[in-house]
Amino acid sequence: MIDQLVRDNIKAMEAYASARHDFTGKGQVFLDANESPFPNGLNRYPDPLQTKVLHRLAALTGIDKDQIILGNGSDEIIDLVLRTFCEPKQDNIIVCPPTYGMYKVSAAINNIEIRQAPLQENFQLDLEGIAENISQRSKIIFICSPNNPSGNLLNRMDIESLLKSFNGIVFVDEAYIDFANQVSLIDLLDRHTNLIISQTFSKARASAGIRLGVAFASKTIITYLRKIKPPYNINDLTAKAAIDQLDDSKFQTNINKIVTQRIYLAEEISKISFVKKIFKSDANFLLIKVDNANMRYQQLLEKEIVVRNRSKELHCNDCLRITVGTNQENLFLLKTLKALQ
Ligand SMILES: *Cc1c(COP(=O)(O)O)cnc(C)c1O
Repeated sequence: MIDQLVRDNIKAMEAYASARHDFTGKGQVFLDANESPFPNGLNRYPDPLQTKVLHRLAALTGIDKDQIILGNGSDEIIDLVLRTFCEPKQDNIIVCPPTYGMYKVSAAINNIEIRQAPLQENFQLDLEGIAENISQRSKIIFICSPNNPSGNLLNRMDIESLLKSFNGIVFVDEAYIDFANQVSLIDLLDRHTNLIISQTFSKARASAGIRLGVAFASKTIITYLRKIKPPYNINDLTAKAAIDQLDDSKFQTNINKIVTQRIYLAEEISKISFVKKIFKSDANFLLIKVDNANMRYQQLLEKEIVVRNRSKELHCNDCLRITVGTNQENLFLLKTLKALQ
């Protein structure tokens, strides 16, 4: 079934064969890739198979390494998935606003039609709205859980029902799953070959600077994504930083700190008179509704606190999105908010 969804040119093409791919056996002297012979730790091309990081992630998640691919951020994964499945000017994707902006941007760059099936006002999926938008040429439904900018988890049963009923790819973006009160959908991979789960090193793993995204999917999907990925998309510095990060003993403690702070922040912010609503969050940020988002945004900026004004997004009138910071940063935010007139 997956093969039928893939673009014909992607099926027909031959993948780039890098120098290091071209031989089996053990090399002593590498005169095959026109690299510099002078060692400085980075003079060799990185491993196109991403072996070390994949090995670690496989051990950590229990997912076979042939079911994992790494990208230069989730953004590259999103682009790879679009280019594997969507024929420009013919196929379409479905997104559920308000949500992460890159699905649309990446589709637009690739000249792929975007169909919108907005979330309901409670920020849950509108399964009927999605069904109405699906056509013969719908290839991917992008879902973000916990959702950005609303912060909530989407109902797992709704996602499962899409996985069963939709004949295309269901892409679930789990950038914030580590902060959530629910586990990843990774356990559904066994049952659904049309599921792609993306995660990232940019949030809970505290490594936005290294640009590393991870996708989990059926072996068939991963094989196609690997076929079209830039051969050296994960550089040696990133791979090394990723391994170090996966060894970081503070990972879970830091997540717990953020979650504790999120709960504290929500409680304190709810006492502020101009705050109308705080949306329930399973992420490392809070979406709050205020009396006048543009004004409050500017007032915070004058105090050198930068938050995200999301008022123009669907169902987000007068909403600000605030990332949970350190205890000290949060106290400064609260003090500032409380002093605003
Ligand atoms: C931050 C974020 C990402 C991360 O993207 P990277 O390219 O991996 O940094 C992915 N998805 C969502 C919904 C996000 O908010």
